[in-house]
Amino acid sequence: MTLDHRLIDLLVCPVCKGPLTMHRDDASRPTELVCPADRLAFPIRDGIPVMLEGEARSLDGPPAAQTPVAQTPATQKSGAAPPT
Ligand SMILES: [Zn+2]
Repeated sequence: MTLDHRLIDLLVCPVCKGPLTMHRDDASRPTELVCPADRLAFPIRDGIPVMLEGEARSLDGPPAAQTPVAQTPATQKSGAAPPT
């Protein structure tokens, strides 16, 4: 089976358009497409690469951060601080 190999040749990083490296699990199934330049890993679900920057896992960031983009509150109400 070299089909996925051809498929990978067509896939480039959506961020930098650079080449991707396929990572495989113990059963040689493709699990992620990694862009070494951006340090991003794009997931492969059911054999379908998810080439979305928002779905990519940062290789530098902390692992298992599956939360959607959450903005930290920029403003804090005065008096909301917990008692010490
Ligand atoms: Zn890239």
